[in-house]
Amino acid sequence: MSISQNLSHFKSHIPEHVCLIAVSKTKPNHLILEAYNAGQRHFGENYIQELVDKSESLPKDIFWHAIGHLQSNKVKYIAPFVHLIHGVDSLKLLQEINKQAIKNKRIINCLLQIYIAKEGTKFGLSPEECENIILSEKFRELQNINIVGLMGMASNTNDEKIVNTEFASLNNLFLRLNNELTKTHNLNLEHLSMGMSSDYKIAIANGSTLIRIGSSIFGERDYNQTN
Ligand SMILES: *Cc1c(COP(=O)(O)O)cnc(C)c1O
Repeated sequence: MSISQNLSHFKSHIPEHVCLIAVSKTKPNHLILEAYNAGQRHFGENYIQELVDKSESLPKDIFWHAIGHLQSNKVKYIAPFVHLIHGVDSLKLLQEINKQAIKNKRIINCLLQIYIAKEGTKFGLSPEECENIILSEKFRELQNINIVGLMGMASNTNDEKIVNTEFASLNNLFLRLNNELTKTHNLNLEHLSMGMSSDYKIAIANGSTLIRIGSSIFGERDYNQTN
């Protein structure tokens, strides 16, 4: 199937309130343009240099999502243009994003990444750490960031029960924070970023509003091939 066929397949199968982010990491510009020409506007990238290069050479009306783990010293490169930063996992990183947002006279949208997987390799905050950040005095001082939701990745397993439990736990945290803290703590929680090619259906069933799909749109990634 072609990229445009893959995209229209997704469009017809996901609810209208769910935004499809095409994850284009390692994929060359001509394939991204193929998706663009089929109407796709939201793209996600993990690696900062690649994200910057692509944003410079591709159409300016693309919404770029930084979905990977982000180091503080890289924030300045994406601050001028990034649409949404998904993987925010520390107060220090939020402070740096705020600083770079001020320099660029922007408000930068962020998601707090929550650790939900059983396996030990994924980044993210515990629910408690997340709440402590939101409740902190230092967080209140950050005027140029907008926390618009939470992000999480489930365990890489074929056991759908485990994946379902993990996504449900993130949705519960999302709902609880929305009930308890949104009005009083300068939060604007609208989005839950969860679900990839292998588990997006389970994610949507658990309240996801942003799905990050790579291989089911562009095909498998080949990390040995340089573009
Ligand atoms: C690569 C990646 C994706 C897309 O994964 P696929 O399995 O190719 O759909 C989604 N989210 C993050 C954070 C990723 O790094």
